[in-house]
Amino acid sequence: MTVYFIGAGPGEPDLITVKGAKLVESCPVVLYTGSLVPKAVIDRAQPDALVLNSADMDLDEITKVYVNAFEQGQDVARVQTGDLSIYSSLAEQTRRLKALGIDWQVIPGVSSFQAAAAALGQELTIPEQCQTIILSRASGRTPVPEKENLKSLAAHEATLCLFLSATLIRKVVRELEEVYPVTWPVVVVEKASHPEQRIIRGTLADIAEKMHQAKIRSTAMIIISKVFAIEDFADSKLYDPAFSHACRKATVVNDVVTVDNGATADQLVIPGHCDECR
Ligand code: SAH
Repeated sequence: MTVYFIGAGPGEPDLITVKGAKLVESCPVVLYTGSLVPKAVIDRAQPDALVLNSADMDLDEITKVYVNAFEQGQDVARVQTGDLSIYSSLAEQTRRLKALGIDWQVIPGVSSFQAAAAALGQELTIPEQCQTIILSRASGRTPVPEKENLKSLAAHEATLCLFLSATLIRKVVRELEEVYPVTWPVVVVEKASHPEQRIIRGTLADIAEKMHQAKIRSTAMIIISKVFAIEDFADSKLYDPAFSHACRKATVVNDVVTVDNGATADQLVIPGHCDECR
């Protein structure tokens, strides 16, 4: 018996992985976070599956669902929003499972920061100008360690994606204004991938007011990044035909790849597709 923690993705039902969807279809017990996991994902469960919403359960009650299933020898599909690596309460759940000797596996999902970037049709890294993405949150009811305060994160000038921070936007802006000019770009994606998705573009100077006007208070990804203002940038090495690297030397003319390291077709590495050349 296994508890499968499944990332359901950001909202659009098709954005769950094939593996996650198959597990929802096959597990006799399905436990999902009611508020954000779309109903269409849960509708995949077998008609006779035990389908439970964890929205009003505490950790003890959730653990009880796992224990009951364990005693019956039934696998559990534990379906949660986005990906399990970020603000998912996976750690506290698996700590209980470990103590109980119950196995678990994690099936990754599309995180909301990725869905927000997709909604914008935008890469969050730009060659030579921004090569790091920081995922964080404003300090609220759950405190953030002082060493991770927003000002120190902002000092990197990396793309900053803030979860769980919509109601704290004024505080976010106050802290970031100490590091950045007020013209620094901020984009907010509310309910990325949902039919009612909204995008608000602004700067540190006006984003709080714009969010207030639009009444955006939850399920929003706040992305603070200079990439939204960068127009002039170099091509990446990824598709640069003149770029050679450890595994091969290559040129591409009219989409035809020429290899000069003697590689046979099955050894052929498309230029830019080894880690070393990125
Ligand atoms: N594990 C989830 C995050 C859970 S924390 C993930 O990987 O996405 C909940 C926060 O995620 C929300 O406050 C919001 O900041 C963000 N979020 C979740 N779904 C979202 C969506 N569809 N659009 C924008 N932000 C979303």
